[in-house]
Amino acid sequence: MIYNLGSINLDYFYSVPRLPVAGETLATKEFSMGLGGKGANMSVAVARAGGEVHHIGSVGEDGIWAIDYLKRAGVDVSNIHSLQATTGHAVIFRDDDGENLIVIHQGANSMQDKDRIAAALLNARPGDILLLQNETNLQAFAAELGHGSGMKVAYAAAPFDVNALKEVLPYIQILVLNELEMAQLREQTGNRPEALGVDVVIVTKGSDGCVLYSKELGEKHVPAFPVNPLDTTGAGDTFTGYFLAHLDLGSSIEEAVLGANAAAAVMVTKKGTADAIPFALDVEKFLG
Ligand code: ADP
Repeated sequence: MIYNLGSINLDYFYSVPRLPVAGETLATKEFSMGLGGKGANMSVAVARAGGEVHHIGSVGEDGIWAIDYLKRAGVDVSNIHSLQATTGHAVIFRDDDGENLIVIHQGANSMQDKDRIAAALLNARPGDILLLQNETNLQAFAAELGHGSGMKVAYAAAPFDVNALKEVLPYIQILVLNELEMAQLREQTGNRPEALGVDVVIVTKGSDGCVLYSKELGEKHVPAFPVNPLDTTGAGDTFTGYFLAHLDLGSSIEEAVLGANAAAAVMVTKKGTADAIPFALDVEKFLG
């Protein structure tokens, strides 16, 4: 079982000929909206991979649609609360070259509550996975609680903040970062992944796949699957959700990385975030 304390956002996508500069007003070419937020994306990815996931989080009164979306995706939503607040949302500009510019309003995502988190984790068992990202408050509280009850704690260090990482570091067994986040970590702490004291560290590297650092397996580069990417937004979320779902379903770390790489490769060939996350069957077909 996976418990995911995570953000839930409404993503507003605007296609623009190029990214606007300061002071500029620019007309958009296309608009669309959908479910997003690293937390929600990862819950959808776990569910589509065939895993069992309880999402812990909150939305505003305008976010009931998001709860419905997650429910339809197969996510347990009984620990998502509707608060008197604004649902978190992201404004995403995408230019003709596929470059992004993203502004996020945290809204209800930053209103998690200790009692609600404790209640959500009450039935968690040793060996269950607690997944966290850096888009909600109370990550360290949840990490300590989960660790204390024998859960495996996994942290996706995005958006990267060195202090947020340091707070959860004593409690985590699995860390997932992208290359940029890894570079920030090294710049700010001088630490290499294997020096963090975490059992499994995965650094995702876009079209170059990922590097796995494991106490058990050492360092291992796993190449990406060659595809023609259309939209890479949410690739890392798909990777992390699939990786943990496979681990929770009993795969080895290497098998789980392979499945995650394949799912993320399928995902980048489609437009959108949560909508573009593939089902296990699509990934199996892709792998042939
Ligand atoms: P993030 O979305 O967090 O920036 P990455 O860009 O590193 O993360 O991508 C996460 C994973 O998605 C990669 O490890 C890889 O498996 C897959 N991926 C991303 N871009 C591509 C691509 N162009 N081709 C194939 N796989 C990709």
